Amino acid sequence: MEQNPLTLPSGEKRVLLHCCCAPCAASIIRRMLDSGLDVTVFFYNPNIYPRSEYEHRKSELVRYVQKVRIPFVDADYDDQQWLEMTRGRGEDPERGERCNLCFDMRLQKAAAYAAKEGFKVFTTTLGISRWKDLEQVTRAGRRAAKLFPGLVYWEHNWRLQGGTDQMEQIAKEENFYRQRYCGCLYSLRESIKRSLPKDPAP
Ligand code: SF4
Repeated sequence: MEQNPLTLPSGEKRVLLHCCCAPCAASIIRRMLDSGLDVTVFFYNPNIYPRSEYEHRKSELVRYVQKVRIPFVDADYDDQQWLEMTRGRGEDPERGERCNLCFDMRLQKAAAYAAKEGFKVFTTTLGISRWKDLEQVTRAGRRAAKLFPGLVYWEHNWRLQGGTDQMEQIAKEENFYRQRYCGCLYSLRESIKRSLPKDPAP
């Protein structure tokens, strides 16, 4: 599908892109580069459990970023802080309050970095996945931007104009690792539960 060139708010050319993983990020990065934007990738995802999974997702993204030759910022793995923040919320459903906290933590860190480094616009790949509530992600982006006067959260629906199909296509072309759960310990536990066989009928 023909895609229109992207334009940033206020005619900016430079954007900080918070990325969660390579399959979600690659098509967005490609569209930004095709539109002539100056994109820097910001990786901050202390929600991802266990550490080996975190490193795996990060290394897949680094592989792509190196291929397309754009800057990559590797932020901290504050997993203890993330676990402390979500203590007692293990039973929250996905898209619930635990996810609000998770989005806020990640996007506020990205917003703080953007403000410090002189970016006027930032956004995230989180909303491209059909498993996420795009509105919930957008609200978190707005909250994060409000903390830093002059910073704009770029609200864009990456699934439109064939975005979802392009995401799938590039993930295949690049042979990316595809995770089976959102990221945290609780979503991993849920995915394991779902994969278990049901009890036989009495
Ligand atoms: S399900 Fe995903 S978005 Fe929600 S808390 Fe876990 S890692 Fe974060």
